[in-house]
Order: sequence, then structure tokens, then C-alpha cells
Amino acid sequence: MHKKTYINRRKSTRIYIGKVPIGNGAPISVQSMTNTRTTDVISTVNQIKELEKSGADIVRIALPNKEAVEAFKIIKQQVNVPLVADIHFDYRLALQAAKYGVDCLRINPGNIGNESRIRSVVDCARDKNIPIRIGVNAGSLEQDIRKKYNKLTPIALLESAMRHVDILDRLNFDQFKVSIKASDVFLTVHAYRLLAKKIDQPLHIGITEAGSIRSGTIKSAIGLGLLLSEGIGDTLRISLAADPIEEIKVGFDVLKALGIRQRGINFIACPTCSRQEFDVINTVNTLEQRLQDIVSPIDVSIIGCVVNGPGEALSSTLGVTGSYHTSSVYENGVRQKERFNNNKIIDQLEAKIRDKVSVINKTN
Ligand code: SF4
Repeated sequence: MHKKTYINRRKSTRIYIGKVPIGNGAPISVQSMTNTRTTDVISTVNQIKELEKSGADIVRIALPNKEAVEAFKIIKQQVNVPLVADIHFDYRLALQAAKYGVDCLRINPGNIGNESRIRSVVDCARDKNIPIRIGVNAGSLEQDIRKKYNKLTPIALLESAMRHVDILDRLNFDQFKVSIKASDVFLTVHAYRLLAKKIDQPLHIGITEAGSIRSGTIKSAIGLGLLLSEGIGDTLRISLAADPIEEIKVGFDVLKALGIRQRGINFIACPTCSRQEFDVINTVNTLEQRLQDIVSPIDVSIIGCVVNGPGEALSSTLGVTGSYHTSSVYENGVRQKERFNNNKIIDQLEAKIRDKVSVINKTN
């Protein structure tokens, strides 16, 4: 019983990052970036594996120098999830990363240097079937564009993006995606709206440097919510000053909230009041922690009393509604004979959810 989405996706071309399709109606992929030192191979591999376990479709990794690229060679052999190499300025690092099997290059062609360097990176990407991500960021906007517009504007960001896009167009290379990010929500949203009209390639969306878990989640949810509801965005990253695993969780929660993509449990829980018959807040938070391993999409409503419980259960796969001493259990909106003891509700609900998920998995 999952929400339908009423969003008309912007039409775009398709690229592949490894086996992950981006654009042209492909599921919106969720990505993050490692924050270990890339030269610390063990920590980086562990973090990439953790990210993949949390649902990351793609992982980006910074390659700031030759040592990092050599470490990348070993890392790449030890992980499955597609890797994007984040490279600034030095075209030789991009060529080496391509040799070591990178799945996408994040490099802005306008920053590589002279024409022959740009051409060598683009030709290499073409030969090896590696897409490029153009990534414009308000924090590193070109000086001349900054001067021209005097302040950060959506048009200024667009002009920067189009400079890089025009270079790839001139070289007849169309396997790219573009991001155009700022930390200001409306600046970012407006810039993406302009870009979406200008090019056909897929868009990587995000609010950059969004802040801590709380404020960054809110900014990202507003910005990405606006864009996604307009059909803009083919892959996303939530930028948080936090463990990158949180970025993946928030990314999926944004997609879940919009009914775009489901992964794991969608909890519906009331805010609680003095009518609650069991501890709703503790129940939902404990179960969210305990059931992180569940990938199958399922809606579970946890509601403190009969005021809203039966109604929410109607649109949930499983539901509990608080009553005196024992609580009512619902499956697909239908009240069951079984009841949960309010003192054991967490364990009983966990077992019930796991049973239901295993039945769903067997029938799928
Ligand atoms: S569902 Fe019941 S317990 Fe929950 S907030 Fe509403 S009235 Fe209070």
C-alpha cells in the first residue's frame, strides 16, 4: 500500500554510472561522498561498503593528488557500488582514474586548462564509456562571472554551467550530467529551473553545504522537494555536515515523502498527546533503529489512540492503534483478532513487521 506519485518527470537523456541508469525515467538514484582520507584504503573501503549497505546507489570519492589516485586503484577492486572520482584541475589524475576503472568523472572541463588537455580527458571518457559530471558550486564560481554579476544569482550559476556544457558540446560529447548548487535554497532551485530548460542531459540535484543534520535536512527537503515536485532531478545528494550514511537516509526519506521511490519502512506515527495508550515516541524511534536492515518498502502506522489510529491503518500495510492495556493490530486496514500488549509492543511489532516483510519478499 504505497503512495502514488503525481509528478511528471522532466524528459532527459540517459547516462550510466557503472550499471546505474541516470535520467530518461530511471529511478532517482541516491548518492553520497566518502569523508575518510582516500589514501586510508581500509577506512575508505569500509565507509563505501557501509554506504552501499545503507542504500547508496553511487559513491563519490575525492582524488586530490597522485597518492589518492593510486589508493583509488586498490579501493575500486574491493567494492561493488559505482564510484565517481572528484577531481579538480589536474587532468592527469582524471586520465589515471579512468585507467583504474572509475565509473564517472566529476571534473569541470573549463577548469582543466588548454584545449589539448580537455580533449585528452574527453576522448578518454568517450573511449572508456565513462560519463562526466559537470559540477557548478556557488562557492567556487569563476571570478569573472562573480565580477560580472556583482553577486550570486541563478543566471550567474547558469552561465558558469553553460561554459562547461558548451565545451562538451563542441567536442561532441553528450554523456554527462550537471549539478548547479548553492547553499541558498531558492537560489539553487531557480538555477536548476533555468538549467532544466536549457539542456537535455540528466541533472544531479542538491543543496550544497546545507549544514548540520537538522538544518541541512530541512533545507535539502525544501529545495529538493520543490525541484522533484516539478519533475526536475535525476540523481541526488544531500550535503550534510554529518556522517555520510545520514545523507543516504535523508535522501531516501525525501524520495519516500514524495512517493517517488520507496526503500525500507515508511513509519507513520502521531505526535502523541495525553490520550496515547503506549509510548509512541519510544516505539517508533526504537523500531526505526532496529529495522534499518529492512529494504522492502512497507508502510507502518504507529498511532497512540483511536482518534486517528484506524484511519491511518487504512492506508498502511501494518498498523497499531493504542487502547487500554492492549492495542489493536491492523493489516491492510483490517483489524485483526490479535492484540499487542502495550508493555511489549516494540518487540511484538518488530516480529510482526519482520514476518510481513518475509511474506512480501517471498511473493515478489
Ligand atoms: S492519535 Fe491520539 S494519541 Fe496520537 S496525537 Fe492524536 S489524539 Fe493524541
